[in-house]
Amino acid sequence: MHRSVKDHEDFREPGRAPRPLRASPPPRTIPADSIPRTALDQDALRVVSRLEREGHEAYLVGGCVRDLLIGRAPKDFDVATSAHPRQIKRLFRNARVIGRRFKLVHVVYGEHIVETATFRSDPLAAEPEEGVVEAATQGALDDLLITEDNEFGTAEEDARRRDFTVNGLFLDPLHNVILDWVGGIDDLERHMLRTIGDPQKRMAEDPVRILRAIKFATRLGFHVEERTWEAMIANAPRLARSAPPRVLEEILRLLRSGTALGAFRMLRASGALRVVLPAIDHFLGSPDDPAAQPRAETFWRLLEALDNDVHQGYVPSTAVCIALLYLRIIEREADPATREGRGAPPDLLTVTGEVLEPIALQTRLPRRDTARARRIVFQQRRFTQVGTKRFRPLLFLRSEDFPEALDLFRLRVAARGQGWDLYEGWRDRYRRFRTSPPEAVAAEFGSEPEEPRRRRRRRPRRGSSAGNARSAGAE
Ligand code: ATP
Ligand code: MG
Repeated sequence: MHRSVKDHEDFREPGRAPRPLRASPPPRTIPADSIPRTALDQDALRVVSRLEREGHEAYLVGGCVRDLLIGRAPKDFDVATSAHPRQIKRLFRNARVIGRRFKLVHVVYGEHIVETATFRSDPLAAEPEEGVVEAATQGALDDLLITEDNEFGTAEEDARRRDFTVNGLFLDPLHNVILDWVGGIDDLERHMLRTIGDPQKRMAEDPVRILRAIKFATRLGFHVEERTWEAMIANAPRLARSAPPRVLEEILRLLRSGTALGAFRMLRASGALRVVLPAIDHFLGSPDDPAAQPRAETFWRLLEALDNDVHQGYVPSTAVCIALLYLRIIEREADPATREGRGAPPDLLTVTGEVLEPIALQTRLPRRDTARARRIVFQQRRFTQVGTKRFRPLLFLRSEDFPEALDLFRLRVAARGQGWDLYEGWRDRYRRFRTSPPEAVAAEFGSEPEEPRRRRRRRPRRGSSAGNARSAGAE
C-alpha cells in the first residue's frame, strides 16, 4: 500500500461551498496512487462524478476502499454523499429510493446497482443525558437534517459511525485521495481489526459487530486488536438480544466465506457460539474434556471440507449449511449408544426434526430451508444403498432435493476421507440422468412411476451450484 503521508491538503476545487467549521482535526489524507483506475467500478465512478459536478460531496466508502487498498477485488462499490435521497433521485433518472428507516438510493445500471447513501451520523453518539444528537460544532449542526427516520450527518460523522477502522476509509476517486478520520490506514498496514471508538460501547450498541469482526478477521487474515477482542468476549451474551435474521445472515456468511473453520473456532473462543448456536457449542464439549475431542474433530473436519469446496467456487445453499452444522448432532442423537438412557432413538427423520425444529425457531430460519435440510440429511442413507434391493435411483435422481443431498454427501465423504468412489458414481449417474435422452435414461435406470405431482413448483434455489445445473438441465 502506498505510504507517503501528506498533511491534510485542500484538494477541493476553489469556489465550492465552504465546509462547516469543525472542532475535530481534519482527516489524514493520502494519495490513492496504489489503486489502479481500472480496479474502480465505472458505474460507481459515474455516480460520484455527477454528484460532485452538482456541488455535493461524494466518495466511495466502506468495504470497497479497504479491499482496493489491500489489493482484493471488492464485492460491491458503495457511494456516500452529502446529497439527500430526494436530491440524488432528482439527479439520476435511473435512481430508486429504497428503505423505510434509512433511506438509500439505488442507482440502477442494467443488472448493476450502485448503492448511494446520504452521510449519516450515529444516533448513539448522542449525549446520553440530553438524548439529542450532538453535532461537533454549531456549524455542523446547521448541516444536519434530522427527520423521523434519518439522521443525516457530515462525511466525518459518517466515517465515525462505521464499525471498524479499516471499514471507515473514504476514497475521493476524482481527486485520487483517501480520507481517513479513524486511523484505518495504519490499521490496514498493521493488518489489525479494531473498532472505531470505544470497543465496549461499539460492541454493546450492536453485538452483531462481534460476528462481523470474526468475518473480517478470518477473511482478511487480520489480527483482532486486544481491547476489541476483550469487548467481543464481554458482549457476546448480548447477541441473544440481536435480531435473529441478522445473526443468521452473518452465520451463513461465515459458512460461505471459505474460512468457516477459523471463523467457528473464533466464535467458540469468544463465547459467541454458546449464545448464537448453543447446541453446537454443547456438542463440541468442554475444551478440557478429552472424551469430547474426537467428536469435536468430526465437526471441524466437515467445516474444513466445506472451506476446500468454497475455494473451488462452491456456494453452499442455506439448507446445506444448516444440514452440515447439525449433521453430527443428528447422527449422535440417532445412535442408540449415545442416547444416554433416553431409550431407543426414533427414526432418523424424527430425530432430524427434533434437532432442527428448535433451531429453526430460534434463528427464524425459513421453513422451506429447514424442511429441505431435514430431507437431505435423511436422504444420505440412499447414497450407500447402491446394489441393494432397495436401490431405486430414478426416483432419487428425480427428486428436487438431489443436488443438495449430493453436495452434503460430497462434504461428508471429504471430511471422512473415504467413499469417493461412491460419490463419483452418483455424480456421474446424475450427469447421465440429466444429459441422456429419455430412452437411454429408461434403459439405464428403469422406468419408475412418476412421483406424485407436488402441489406447487418450487423456485430454483439461489446459491446451489448443483441446483443451478439441475434446473438448467433436467427441467
Ligand atoms: P463485504 O466485503 O463483506 O461487503 P463490507 O465492509 O462492504 O464487507 P457491508 O456489510 O457491505 O460490509 O457494509 C458496508 C459498510 O457499512 C461497512 O464497510 C461498514 O463501514 C458499514 N457497516 C456495515 N454494518 C455495520 C454495522 N453493523 N455497524 C457499523 N457500520 C456498519
Ligand atoms: Mg459490502
